[in-house]
This record gives sequence, C-alpha cells and structure tokens, in this order.
Amino acid sequence: MESMKFTDVDDTVVTRRNEPGIRIRTLTAFFFLLLAALLAVGVGIIVHFTTSSSGCQVNWPTTALSDLFSDEYMLQKCSVISKERKKCPKGCEYIEKIETPVKDIFDRPNDVRLPNETVPYHYKIKLQPHFYNENPKDFFFEGTSKMFFTIFENTTKQIIIHSAGLRIDKTYTKVQDDKGRDIKIADQVYDVERQWWRIELKSEMHPNNNYSIEHKFEGDLTDGLAGFYRSKYFDKKTQMTRYLATTQFQPTDARRAFPCQDEPAKKATFNITLIKKKGYTALSNTESYYERKLHDDWIEVGFKETPKMSTYLLAFIVCDFINKSQKTKNGVEIRVWARRDAIDKVDFSLDAGRKILEHFEDYFQIPFPLNKLDMIAVPDFSAGAMENWGLVTYRETTLLVDERSATSNKQRVAVIVSHELAHQWFGNLVTPAWWDDLWLNEGFASYVEYLGVDKIFPDWGMKGLFIIEDLQDVMRFDGFKNSHSIYHYVIHPRDISEIFDRISYAKGASVIRMMKDFIGEDLFLKGLTKYLKTYQYSVANHNNLWDALTNVCKEEGKYIDVAKIMNSWVRQTGYPVVKLWRDYLGSKTKLYSDQIRFLNEKNHLYDPEHNKVQKLQNSWYIPLTYRLDTSPKTERVWMNNENITIPIDRNVQWYLGNLNQSGFYRVNYDEANWNALIDQLIKDHTVFDVINRAQIIDDTFWLGRSGLIDQRLSLTAIEYLKRELGDMGYLPWKSAVRALNFFDRMLKKMPIYGNFLTYMRNLITPVYDKFGWNISKTDKHLVKYMKSTAVEVACTVEHQDCIKKAREEFEKWLIDDNYKIEADLTSVTLCVGIKFSNGSTWERVFGRFMNETSPTMKSKLMHSLSCSREPWILIKYLLGAIGSELIRNQDAVMVIHYISKNPIGGDLAWNFITQNWDDINKKLGGTLLSTNNLINSVTAALNTRVAYKQLENFAKTHKEKLGAAVRIVEYAKERTKAQIEWIDKNYDQVAAWLRDRYPFA
Ligand SMILES: [Zn+2]
Repeated sequence: MESMKFTDVDDTVVTRRNEPGIRIRTLTAFFFLLLAALLAVGVGIIVHFTTSSSGCQVNWPTTALSDLFSDEYMLQKCSVISKERKKCPKGCEYIEKIETPVKDIFDRPNDVRLPNETVPYHYKIKLQPHFYNENPKDFFFEGTSKMFFTIFENTTKQIIIHSAGLRIDKTYTKVQDDKGRDIKIADQVYDVERQWWRIELKSEMHPNNNYSIEHKFEGDLTDGLAGFYRSKYFDKKTQMTRYLATTQFQPTDARRAFPCQDEPAKKATFNITLIKKKGYTALSNTESYYERKLHDDWIEVGFKETPKMSTYLLAFIVCDFINKSQKTKNGVEIRVWARRDAIDKVDFSLDAGRKILEHFEDYFQIPFPLNKLDMIAVPDFSAGAMENWGLVTYRETTLLVDERSATSNKQRVAVIVSHELAHQWFGNLVTPAWWDDLWLNEGFASYVEYLGVDKIFPDWGMKGLFIIEDLQDVMRFDGFKNSHSIYHYVIHPRDISEIFDRISYAKGASVIRMMKDFIGEDLFLKGLTKYLKTYQYSVANHNNLWDALTNVCKEEGKYIDVAKIMNSWVRQTGYPVVKLWRDYLGSKTKLYSDQIRFLNEKNHLYDPEHNKVQKLQNSWYIPLTYRLDTSPKTERVWMNNENITIPIDRNVQWYLGNLNQSGFYRVNYDEANWNALIDQLIKDHTVFDVINRAQIIDDTFWLGRSGLIDQRLSLTAIEYLKRELGDMGYLPWKSAVRALNFFDRMLKKMPIYGNFLTYMRNLITPVYDKFGWNISKTDKHLVKYMKSTAVEVACTVEHQDCIKKAREEFEKWLIDDNYKIEADLTSVTLCVGIKFSNGSTWERVFGRFMNETSPTMKSKLMHSLSCSREPWILIKYLLGAIGSELIRNQDAVMVIHYISKNPIGGDLAWNFITQNWDDINKKLGGTLLSTNNLINSVTAALNTRVAYKQLENFAKTHKEKLGAAVRIVEYAKERTKAQIEWIDKNYDQVAAWLRDRYPFA
C-alpha cells in the first residue's frame, strides 16, 4: 500500500514543491519505547514449512532471536513455544502459536491471533452489491462464502473465522467433511473484541482431513473507505451522481467483505463470483471467464481461480468505468480504468505501468504470474494506492495525469505505479508471515519504486531524489527518542495500522539501499531472486532474506554476515552519528572515529525521573565510507563497538564521510574540519558530489538542532547556496528549504523574523533571478523543480517581483476561465492570489473548486483556498471541511493541514481542533492514520509554554476518545517541549547572528 502521507510538517512552511493533495508525505506515529515495554506479550515464533514428497521440512529461524536485540525488543519478553514438527497436512504451509499474553494498556485483548487448528486452502465467494437506487443509506451487499480447510494437528470441535460488520445468517451456516456429509453445529457466537465468528460443532474434526464451512451474509456498503464500500462521482454526460462498489482490505478489512481467516500467512486460492447489473463492469484479481444472465438485468460474472494468496490482496469492484489498454512484450494485458470524464487522463500511467512491469520482470528474473493487470482510479480512497494482485486501486490524483499536472504530480504518479507494481512480487508473490515484517514489503517497494522510474525516465535524477524525499526525510523522524525499530512487534489490528509509517517505508528503503551498496548490485539482485523463488506463493520473514543474501555472497567467495549487520539496523531504534576528528597537535596525524545514537534534541538524553543522563548503549555495524581532499578515491571501513583510527597525511585539509550518503547515519567532525568543508563549499562546491552537498546541509542543521554543534554553523553552510545555480542544485536546495522551514516556524512570531526574511531573500534572489518564471517543456526534470522552488521560496519570503508576477497571473486566470497558468507554478500563483484577495474573490475560487473535474487542478484549488489572510474565511473553510458534504471525507484532513500551515491559520486550526474534536473525529471516521496526521500537523509549530499547557489540557479532556492516538499527542507534547527548549537555548545566538549579518531591510 502507498500510505496516505503528509508532505511532512517541516516541509510545507516555506515551499510546496509537492503539490497539495498529491505528495502527501510523511509522518505518522512514533511508537514508544515505554509502550513496547508495557506490551510484554509473548512473541510467537514463525515456523515455515515447505511441502515436499517426504512430508514437511521445517526451517527454523536461522538467527537466534536473542541475537542483536534492541533493549525495547528484549523487554517484549520473547518466548519460544512452537514445537510442531509433525507431518504437514495438505494445504498447510505455515504454523504459528502465540502464548496467551498479558492485558495491554488499552484494556483490549491481545490474543487476537487465530489458532492454527484450521488451515484454509481454498475459498468460493459470491458477492452481489446493491447500489443502484438514489439513496446511498440503503446500499448493501449480500453474499455466500465457502472456505475449504484442513485440520492441522489435534482433533477439534471449533472453527474460528474473522468477520466484522457482517450480518451472518446463522441458520445457513453449514460444515461438511470431504465426503459432503454435514457435521452438526452446536453453537455459533460472535466475539466482538476479536472480530471472531466462533462455531462449535457437535462432533470432532480430525487431523489431516479436509472440511468446508459455508456462510450466507450481508453487510452495508458504507462510505467508510474500508472493506467493501461505496464511492461516488458526478457524471457530466448524464448530470447525475453515479456510484460504484469497491474494496480496500489491507491490513485487516477483508473480514468486512466476507467471513475468512484474515491473516497474511493463511494463504489460499480463491474463486470469486460477482453479480452486477447490466451496463456495469465487474473486476477482480484475475480475468473473468464467464458471464451468465440472471433475472431482472442481473448478470453473474465468474473469475478464474487466483494463485495462492493472502486475503488482504483480494479486490472486488463493480462500476461503470471504461478503460484503455496495452500489452506487455510477454503478453500481459494492462488496462487502466477511470470514470468516463477522466479516461483521457490515463495515458501516462498506462504507458508507465507497461514499461515498469516489463522492467520488473527483468529485474526480479521472475515473470508476472497473472495474464492481466488492471489499475483503477477510485474517486474515494483512503490510502495513496493499494497493490491488490492483478487489480491495483489508486486515488484519482495518484493515477491520472493531465495538462494541469505539475512535474511533481507526474513524478508522484510514476513513483506510485512503480511502488504498487514492485509489490506484485515483493508482498504479493512472497508475503511477510506477519505484520511485524511489514517493512520488508514496504521498504523494498519504497526503494525499487525509484529504480523502476529511473529505468523509464533516466534523466529525472531519481537516485538523487531518493536522498531528499526518503532518506533525509525519515532521518528527522527517526532522530526522536520515541521512534521505533523498523522491525516492530504488533498484534492488534489498531497497532497494525500504525506501522504503515515512514519508518517502515522510508527507513526500510534506506537500509535496503545501504545493504545493496555494501553487498554490491549483482549479488544483491541474485540473492533477491533466490529469496523470491524460494518463497513464492508462500510467506517469509526478514531472516529468510538475510540467509539468501549471505548464501549468494558465500557462493562468490565473499563472506558477509548479512543478518548480523542488518539486524543491528532493523531491530534497533534510531541510527548513529559517526564522529570523525583529528588530533591537529599530535606528533602523528590520525583520523579517529566513534559512534553514538543520534537524537534530535540533546536534552532528551536527560532523564528527569532519575535525574541523570541516560546511557544509550546502542551500536550499529556501520559501512563507513570517506574521502580526503587529497584524493577522489572512496575509502571503506567497517565500524562497530570499537573506535577506529586511520593514519592520514598531514597535508589533508578536509575529510568527508558517508559518500553518496549511502549509509543511514549522520557524520559530525571537529570544528576545524567543519570550517574547512564550508570554506570549500564557498570556494568551489562542485568538488563535492551534489548528494554530499545536500548531506552537509542536512547534517549541519540537525547536529545544530541537537546541540552537537553550534546551530549558527548550518545558517553559515546554507549561505553558499547563492551560487548553487546548476541543474542539480535542486537537491541541496531542497535539504536547505527543509532546514529553513524549522527556523521559519520557530522565528515567525519573534522580533528577529524580519532579519530572517532578509537572510532568505538574500539567498533566493540570485536563484530567482536566474530561474524565475520561465519554465519550458524542454527543461530537464530537476531544472523544473529548481525553477518552481525558486518561485515558491521567493513568493513565501515576499520577494516583491515574485508577488507582483503571481498576482498578475492570478488576475488573468480570474478573468478568463480558460487561461492556463504554468502547471508547475499554478499552486504558488493561486496561493499568492488568494492571500491578497477579499472574501468575494475567495467565493469565486471556491465555486471553481466545486465545479472542477480535473483531480489535479481540484487539489491545487483546495490548497489555494487555505492561503487567505482573513480569519473569518479560514474558519468558514474549516467548518465547510468538517460539517458539509462539499468536501470529501478523504480531503477534510488535508484542508485542516493546509490551514494549519498558513501563518494566520496555525492558531485558528489548533483552536478549531480543540473545540470541535468530536465532530472532526466523526468526519475522519476515527481512523488512526487520519487522526495522527491531523494532530501532528496542527501541533507542529507550537513552541510556547502557553501552547504546551493547552496541549496538556487537550490530552486530558479527550483522553477517553483519543484511544491509540493518545500516543501522537504525547509525541506532540515532547516536540513542543523540545521546541520551547530550542528557543531558550538558541534564540539569542541565532538572533544576534542574523542581526549582525542581515539587517532588516
Ligand atoms: Zn506499499
């Protein structure tokens, strides 16, 4: 899945290269050391069985689980209890047992995992959605399902099946043995907490025998964006609202569509039948192979049996969309579906989809196992996209491209298509055995998505963009003390939703990239293919991947203990900062290095409860790379617990670590070396690779923020950017903009802000003068970004020429509906236009927003409406987002997010949230991801003691209703406190520096 992500809070204050609603990067929850400790539950051990002629072969995890554990993981009291080594019955591939755990802190059961008595191997499902009248409140679906299963080990009289929100007809439920003989049912009860439908039988079922259970049920087609749900759109031709029925199952919502054993390792084959009305299309994972007319214009559509797969990857859609199609060189038919009015916008994704699918077949060395691939733009969709096998669902904005789409929109579409197609192998063919290894799915997809796009658009600079958009982006989150390890133990459905976050995606991707770098590309690919082929149509965990990679290395005579190295990265929270320093006065010149865990806020090392500085004893296996100014050669050395010493020549002026930023660590230096590096940047920045220029800026900012170096050093380093005017300049500029957003947020309400604006204008003016407003179709990808960044930053810091031009463009557009503002500059132009407009202009633009049918343009308009400087307008907009049907549920959270980024709107949004929490929660459907995003966003700029008190009161007042979101409130409190302390410690110094060098003008 591509999560619904905000363009992170640090990112959106100064610039929004990522167009509104398109690039929904970031955040999500940080999970908690303390919580992990409290969740002292038993961890089941995964045993993977592969069927062979002689029975089953049991592969125990090869790395002892106690090896290389992080502290918090140890606190989870892992307990090994699974001992089943008996013969594997038909259909069984996987067994797991969980100890009865302790109660968790939210007072809910933790033993929500299904027992392994029954092992499903096939389902027959028939579903008939009813959504054809005018009243969506009456929409529902009905169906039958038959699950075929094997009894694993012991005789049992019990069958447990997941079900949520379904009305199951008890009188219909039927259990049979493999001879078709009924087994009498004693009782059927629903366990609400566990979402279990529990069937007790009068007689026993026996090991190695096959049985079936049949259900009849119905459920509501709600607008809840989960399970089998309804979506709608307005059709221009008929001037009517049209509806469709669609699904979203990951992670635990297949059980909302039909009763099933809804865990990823319970893989089975599926025969799906959908019943639709004439004039509609029915889609599922595989191609349809028959259509049969029923009564009253109903048509039954049968789909070919699926490969063996997890329930969360199923999809069912009934809609009146149309498609365009292409065939890959291996004959796979790719169709892209959209509503009739949007079908002219699918060409880009269709083309990209075909090329990327062909590329991944080569890359993974395994053909795509289905003979068709559908991709569909669903008008109401909670995530960015979902990789259902053979039927990938997308938000409209992540699949459709038109002439209004900015360069970033296009890139976003290509990247998400690439991400979902990578999942067809990584996730669908081989699936993590449980959600704690979700990162394996998402980390891989998030890394190879860049490679897929790089293949088809080699001039886009995707490999450099990875550094900016994923690696540096997630380092910020992972630097908080309350981050969590990549491998994260989860069990309850609510906790599972929480790990669809930046750590699983972007940090997962970053450590995989680092691994590829130290293993070498060829061996990395060889190991990957081996892993996929070994576990295809089955499940695996991260140790299986480490083994595959270690073995291919060994075969080539290269000894790398991948498990030892990688577990230090995936099982420990956070990441290291390596310090390189030299003794300038000593008789022998040497370079020394050591590592500590990096924390964003130095004061967090202080533990007030015990009145002492916490000892953080983590250590990582670090592939350290460095170079000296005297040679362009990349030197490599491994670091772990021991400090290392490297003799160097006395003539060396500077040294630079983590080349190409291929490692997931920061680098700090002695002060003299920092100054030498900054001097070099000023003298000739091209001596450093562009990725390292971006890295120096990012590292100086965060090291300064954490107190490890003087914060003024980063402001000084950034000054060289005036000369960063080449094609690749976008990368360091983007790193700088992110850092400057923090200063902007902290200084906005301080008397020094005018000087800060002078500093910013001084930086941006040469870039603005060079790049300005002239974006041409023939410009390179990164040049387009550079140009739009120049305009966005200049207009944000009120560069007069920029404001003037934006207002002129806005006026032309306002007068003439058909006037086209340059797509890459539309967002900033509309925002400036609205900022300097009155209420009646705002109303006109709101009218255009309502009537706009291009999803891209609609989201730009939605963003621009948040730029007003009139508090009453912003309040009106907030109320509209929450209290009316005018704005889709999926967009309401974006509106509040945008308004909170407006200097006038920040306090308004925060007060609005605190006062209307119940209504807002209702509108968001109470989903944790939306709640987390929202709270994170509106609290990002809080840095006063008054605000901290408000936050405390908010947490107290809404404690009951916040549920698991109480964690993000705790995180917001921690951040607010840290920001107050940053002001206390740094404001005077930074203000003096700005006053001295950049007099207010
Ligand atoms: Zn994904």
